[in-house]
This record gives sequence, structure tokens and C-alpha cells, in this order.
Amino acid sequence: MPEFLRSLSPADPKDELGTFVVADESSVHASVVRARAAFPAWRDAGLAAREKVLRRFAEIVKGRSDELAHLIAREVGKALWDARAEAALLPAKVDATLSEGMRFVAPIEAGGGARALYHPRGVLAVLGPFNFPAHLPNGHIVPALALGNTVVWKPSELAPAVAHWVHGVWREAGLPAGALEVVHGPGTTGRLLALHPDVDAILFTGSWAVGHTLARQLLDQPGKLVALELGGKNAMVVLSDADLSLAVAEAAVSICATTGQRCSSASRIFVERPLFDAFTERLSRMLRGVRVGPPLDSSVFMGPLVSHAAYTRVLGYRARAEQAGGERIVDVEPGLPPPFVGPGLVRFREARQDHPYQRDEIFGPEAALYPVDNLEHAISAVNDSDFGLVASIMTADRGKFSHCIGRVRTGLLNWNRGTIGASGRLPFGGTKRSGNDRPAGILSTLYCSAPQACLEHTGAFDPTALPPGIPLP
Ligand code: NAD
Repeated sequence: MPEFLRSLSPADPKDELGTFVVADESSVHASVVRARAAFPAWRDAGLAAREKVLRRFAEIVKGRSDELAHLIAREVGKALWDARAEAALLPAKVDATLSEGMRFVAPIEAGGGARALYHPRGVLAVLGPFNFPAHLPNGHIVPALALGNTVVWKPSELAPAVAHWVHGVWREAGLPAGALEVVHGPGTTGRLLALHPDVDAILFTGSWAVGHTLARQLLDQPGKLVALELGGKNAMVVLSDADLSLAVAEAAVSICATTGQRCSSASRIFVERPLFDAFTERLSRMLRGVRVGPPLDSSVFMGPLVSHAAYTRVLGYRARAEQAGGERIVDVEPGLPPPFVGPGLVRFREARQDHPYQRDEIFGPEAALYPVDNLEHAISAVNDSDFGLVASIMTADRGKFSHCIGRVRTGLLNWNRGTIGASGRLPFGGTKRSGNDRPAGILSTLYCSAPQACLEHTGAFDPTALPPGIPLP
């Protein structure tokens, strides 16, 4: 008997988005076999033919982006403004890949008949998270297909309907059968796919815990490329010369967007002492005013958490803030049933971070405030983390920001901007538990291809080129 995933909206369990068959071992295998069979023709079709399909996909998504946004909002509870922003990222990724991403994998000409050419790796597995259920898998799928790979995609079990929709658009755009396979299911399905011997690479976006498990399980398949885009415990630094209103607004948005469920959400805010009380007061006020409600209501900023399990997890961390030495100063009760939550804010009196509340990724609209003495103190506090995805520095002084470059150990570092929101035309990835140094974003073409170095000779045999001691042929 096959198992099924039933997709229900976290905002309204009566809103059912569909039922999807869970792929067991034999159907995962069948998908890999179909993707392998489709690979030679897709590879050999050439970039111009592939580009046509990619551009057509982008056109269709653009024309139907509101449909996609509504589906995302319903399926994962993302507020409509946020879901619309996500839908717009899909065609943008096609454009960025084709116009700029491909230049990173252009042939390397070394002169004297020496050059390297990039070619596709083969069958790539894409494992996606729930929080950007269309955009993040798309961030791997588009460069993978552009380069001539075929893909088997295991979307989040919390967002199968979005994946089904996106897959349908690819087929409508003319993508050949087998070039993109979708297998639904929970982590066990992902594991079957990742460990399948005929998969050439794993492009994973998700939590540190799962990324770490995958990396360990794949130790005896060292030839398989593993690109891990993992979590964050992202920091904002507010120096005393910062524009206070800007800093407060950027912090509130970075804490609450996507109900705090972004890898780039802000969860640690280090404020220079002279500004600490004023910042705390203003941020608390702003967080209390955030509108929480049904994601399809376009006046809402924050929808529910994605699931009851996520709700239990966030509340579990919240309950431990005081044990960690913090004082809860914002705890908004949204007046809606779980998994709706309001923003939360905790104040600490020093910047030590020893407790799991302070070190783990909580993945909810929850942040901690810490006082710091000066910029150096702030840098060491930011770096006192197991993660290294995003940090932002709020200061009027560009020199102070520049001082942080290379000293703050994150993959992304913003000046007078919050931690969320990234350019699709830049690398995206982090240090430490945030990834394994295979940045996505514009550099995703690199892990979707492999270089082959070629030495070429066009002339006739030259006997004088032979080293001494070897006879003529
Ligand atoms: P998750 O790690 O729970 O799941 C991600 C995917 O892995 C899902 O498809 C899941 O079914 C699958 N999976 C689970 N166990 C598996 C296993 N043993 N083997 C193979 N696959 C398995 O993550 P999530 O809750 O969906 O997403 C949230 C996490 O993703 C957060 O940690 C967030 O920071 C991170 N994230 C990172 C980025 C980034 O670009 N760095 C972007 C978005 C989200």
C-alpha cells in the first residue's frame, strides 16, 4: 500500500492542497533511472536549446506568479507580500544564471593548446526546505538544467503542492520527460535519493542537523559532490552612531519576515551601550505592532509558523530564555490558534552566549538583545556562534563597516541593511555550520558542473620535442 502526504494549510486545516504519493525505494530508483536516461540528450541539446526552455519557464512563471504566490501562502503560511516576493525570484534566477552565472563556467584558455571546459555532472539530487519551497530548489534546478544536468527533486514534505505546480510549469515550458523528476516524501525519501549510487551530486538546502547527517552518511561516496546550504544564527550590530529608526526597522523586519523562518532571520542583536535602552524600547514597540494573521490577508505582515511541530519547537526555546539568563520583554499573544505566534524579544545584560537558546537556530520570530562595549567587542560576540551565514552592521561610519569585512566570519555582511534579503547576483552561503563552502546564488553554476582540463596538439610529430633517452618512434 503506498503512503500519502496530505498537504493542509497551517493557517486553516480545512484548506487542503492535495494528496501526494510518497516515493518508496523502487520509485526513487525509477526516477533516478529516468533522469539518467534523459541526461545524454539534454546534455547534447546544447546551451541554446536549453536556454529556450529556461526562458519559456521564466515567462510562464512570470505570467502566473500570483497563482504561485497564493499557493505558497496557503501551503506554508507565508504572508502574501512575502510569497509574491518569492514567486518573483524564480524568473529572476533564470535571468541571472543565463546572463551572469554562466561566465563562471566559461572555458579557461591557458594558451599553447591548454584549456579547461566545464561540463555537466550528470544526475543531480535537489533536496529542498519548506521556507522558500519554490525559490530555493529553483536556485539549484535552474543552473543544473542550464548546464545540461538532469535533476531529481525531493521537495519538502511540507510543500508538495508547490513542487507539483513548479514541475508542471517546467513540462509546459518544453522540458523533456525525465530531465526533472519529482519524488515526494519525508526525510526517509530524501535519504534514499541522496544515497542512491547513480546520483552524482546532492544539492541540499535545509537544517544543520540534516546536512550534518547527510555529510556523514556520504563519507564513503567521496566522489559525490555535496553542496550544503544550511542554517543561521544571524547577528545585527547596532553602533551608537547608527540611524536609530533605520536600525529598529531593519531589525524588526529581519526578525519577523517569514515568521522568523528564514536562514537569514536576525536572532542576535548586539547594541552599543549608549544606545541600548533607546533601541530596546523602540524595537519592543515596533514588534508589538506587527500584524499577525491569515497569510492571504494582504494587510498581514506575518502568517503562522509552518506546522504544529515548529510551534512546539519555538515555544520550547522561548520557555528557556530565562534559564539562559535573559529577561523576556516582548511576548506577543496573537489571539489566533497555533501554529500562529507573535514576535518575541529577550534582553540580556551581557554578551555571553552559552545556552542553547542563545546558540541554536530557533527558526521563529524571536530575537535576543545584548549590550556591547565597542566595535571589537561586537565582532567577537558576532563570531561567538556555531553558524556563520549573515551579519549586518548599523553605523553611520563606512570605515567601521569596512573594518568588519574579513573579521566577521559570515558569508554575507550588510551595512545599514538588515540580515534578510540578498542579491541573486552575488554568492549566497555561509561559514561553519551554515554550509560547506559551496556558495549558491550566482556561483551555483560552479557546483552544477565539473571542469575537464585539456591539452591539445594540432601540428605534426616533432622529433626534437622528445626528451633525451627515448628512441624515435
Ligand atoms: P530540514 O533540514 O528539516 O529539511 C530539508 C529537506 O531535507 C527536506 O526536504 C527534508 O524532507 C529532507 N530531509 C530530512 N531528513 C533527511 C535525511 N536524513 N536525508 C535526506 N533528506 C532529508 O529543513 P527545513 O525545516 O525544511 O528548512 C529549514 C532549515 O533550512 C533551516 O535550518 C534554515 O536555516 C535552512 N535553510 C537554509 C538556507 C540557505 O540557503 N542556507 C535557505 C533556507 C533554509
